[in-house]
Amino acid sequence: MHRLKDYEPIVGPQVVEELYLLAEKVKGLSIQNINSTAVGGGVAEILNRMVPLLKELGVHAKWDVIKGGERFFKVTKKFHNALHGRVESFTPEDFSVFLETGEENRKTMELTGNVMFIHDPQPITLINHKGNMDAKWIWRCHIDVSNPDQKLWNFLRPFIDRYDAAVFSAPAFSQELLVRQFLISPSIDPLSDKNRNLTEDTIRTVLERFHLDLDKPMITQISRFDYLKDPLGVIEAFKIVKRHVDCQLVLAGGEASDDPESTEVLARVREKAIEDPDIHVLAIPSGSDIEINALQTVSSVIIQKSIKEGFGLTVAEALWKAKPLVASAVGGITLQVTHKYSGLLCHSIEGAAHSIKQLLQNPEYARKLGENGREHIRQNFLLTRHLRDYLLLFLSLYHEGDIIYL
Ligand code: UDP
Repeated sequence: MHRLKDYEPIVGPQVVEELYLLAEKVKGLSIQNINSTAVGGGVAEILNRMVPLLKELGVHAKWDVIKGGERFFKVTKKFHNALHGRVESFTPEDFSVFLETGEENRKTMELTGNVMFIHDPQPITLINHKGNMDAKWIWRCHIDVSNPDQKLWNFLRPFIDRYDAAVFSAPAFSQELLVRQFLISPSIDPLSDKNRNLTEDTIRTVLERFHLDLDKPMITQISRFDYLKDPLGVIEAFKIVKRHVDCQLVLAGGEASDDPESTEVLARVREKAIEDPDIHVLAIPSGSDIEINALQTVSSVIIQKSIKEGFGLTVAEALWKAKPLVASAVGGITLQVTHKYSGLLCHSIEGAAHSIKQLLQNPEYARKLGENGREHIRQNFLLTRHLRDYLLLFLSLYHEGDIIYL
């Protein structure tokens, strides 16, 4: 496990020094993070690294996961889609399952933090415990809620309004709320197995395990198998590119324990991919960080063709590896990619195909975009900046309206 000083060569010693200064003011507080899955997806990815580093800074951070049955996670997946703007229909039972499971968790979990840091809608009703404890409550929304289903938003809003603060990943997601709002974008850990430099041997082993060889340029999308990541659209785009350039496609991803839809999506992707041996659909187990790193590292172009995206950690991961990237101009992706400077943004299958082709045919241009992307991530989306924002957030909960002197 890396220590904070290990980040100094990447971000500079002042950045790490400032974290210690800030943490000094937050020491003594306990921060209890709660979300709905320990593995799979961006939230778990971030908490995995954030919690140990907060501890190293002397902040008592912990992370707990709510429990729920299949019905609950079916409902929360519908919530997830509807908050992203997809049309879903809800029954009264959906809302009662959601409320009942929330209440069971409220009663059975040990809720002890001075700061209760609740991630996403699944555990949102834990706020019902607010009156029983002397704590500050933060609702951290990782979803693109710029255009949520209004009925669902109206249902959730009274819960959100009882928090002390709400945190969104991008300016476009902020909503009219009674609570203070903060803008904090996510981050990646440059030293994690997913993002550090790998040896050639390690990379070769991964490629052999997946029966991949690099005789053809490789286009890759790493994502949970979710319709919102549009894996079927990626295949369509790939088919267009292949008419012009001989290349292969890798769609790699796993399942998240809070996502009951992924098995169906994976099956549809496999069905669509079956006729083309150049399409490799890799179902990878959770914790496949080195495998993901290796796939990203050897790719000629990385694609992230999401229909909606809260932030898109996979985009940051690709850019940190200085990879040429084609990504949809949605949600948090637009914070990370400046079109034609640090990657290419697309709005359609045809647009994605055109951009991939352009990058494959212009390696020098592709290299330059990748380099710019890496620098943008270094400046804005590494874990140290995220830690700093969180420490300031905790501090500001106790100093509403004050100027905080560092
Ligand atoms: N990821 C993973 N295994 C998978 C698919 C994705 O470890 O099978 C990782 C991916 O590398 C990234 C995170 O999970 O770090 C996904 O975050 P992102 O913000 O891209 O999307 P989300 O899944 O949260 O919608």
